[in-house]
Amino acid sequence: MEKIIVTGGAGFIGSALVRHLVLDDGVEVIVVDKMTYAANRANIEPAEKTGRCRLVVADICDQARMTDLIKKEAPDQILHLAAESHVDRSISGPHDFIETNVIGTYSMLEAARTYWSSLQGDAKERFRFLHVSTDEVYGSLGAEGLFHETTPYDPSSPYSASKAASDHLAHAWHRTYGLPVVVSNCSNNYGPYHFPEKLIPLVILNALEGKPLPVYGAGSNVRDWLYVDDHARALSLIASQGRLGETYNVGGRNERTNLQVVEAICDALDVLRPTSRSRRELITFVKDRPGHDQRYAIDATKLETELGWRARETFETGLRKTVQWYLDHPDWWQPLRKSVYSGERLGLETNVKA
Ligand code: NAD
Repeated sequence: MEKIIVTGGAGFIGSALVRHLVLDDGVEVIVVDKMTYAANRANIEPAEKTGRCRLVVADICDQARMTDLIKKEAPDQILHLAAESHVDRSISGPHDFIETNVIGTYSMLEAARTYWSSLQGDAKERFRFLHVSTDEVYGSLGAEGLFHETTPYDPSSPYSASKAASDHLAHAWHRTYGLPVVVSNCSNNYGPYHFPEKLIPLVILNALEGKPLPVYGAGSNVRDWLYVDDHARALSLIASQGRLGETYNVGGRNERTNLQVVEAICDALDVLRPTSRSRRELITFVKDRPGHDQRYAIDATKLETELGWRARETFETGLRKTVQWYLDHPDWWQPLRKSVYSGERLGLETNVKA
């Protein structure tokens, strides 16, 4: 049976990937996760129940531990998703982003290289290291145009700068050492098990609780939304069939302004859980995020034509499934809202810490 290590596998996208690999593809998965505030064991419970998924609680920055672990597990692939991922938190406190996203990726690349160098024949040919990244490394678009794989990097936030650095390391480890690396850059994800600090789950839960729905600036910033299970299928495909040393952009051609997203959530909730007043009345415009990129939009043609991937969900179908999932799973999010993060504003210059 194929064996895959997924770093950050107890987080949002990592766990969608783990559930896909274990439940749909029948693969054995080792989840390597530090279990930060963003991780949740419940996210991988369906995979763990099969007996084909194990969690190793570890920090990817611990290179010696990663080297030992990879040698012991002898995986066919390493899918590297562990990261600090929230832009607003990177503004309030960039240190952990540099540590995990840059040093941690370096540590994983070196540990993987030690293992890969020791392999022979088929096992060496087969081995892959997928570095998972974001479209935010490309910076901001104007009203026209799309991000292509060849778009120059121009990151704006401490988060996107740390991811850009890690992407460069991943490519360098391929060019310099021949490590079989592929890199993916994806647009904004949403879906079940999304930690409620990010826009879509935060708005769903605030709306359910009758709290204000914060919209940054005028709500005109545009993001290109992808349902998380579509991303998980893309990652599995890119890791297995992507060309070495290449980048693949992943996106669903679902551009929406933030205000459109928030209004769509209000409308979906008004249908699925009606109240006497429209949730749109809760929308509150708040001070914009510093350095807020205006527009992201992905051209996923390379992934579609080379590897035959297609997004299955439109924004409307994916959002409806997501809203329904949060309505059905208060057991998942209520403890997080009570004790991990209750929705306070993050990422203003006034609450920056080193
Ligand atoms: P997440 O914050 O939900 O999960 C990250 C996981 O990494 C958590 O489980 C956390 O515990 C773990 N982690 C953090 N530091 C670690 C460390 N030092 N050692 C081991 N584990 C550690 O993030 P996500 O949204 O699932 O994003 C996963 C990856 O996908 C990230 O690399 C992110 O940059 C990338 N990405 C995210 C999006 C998005 O829309 N969320 C879009 C494109 C790319």
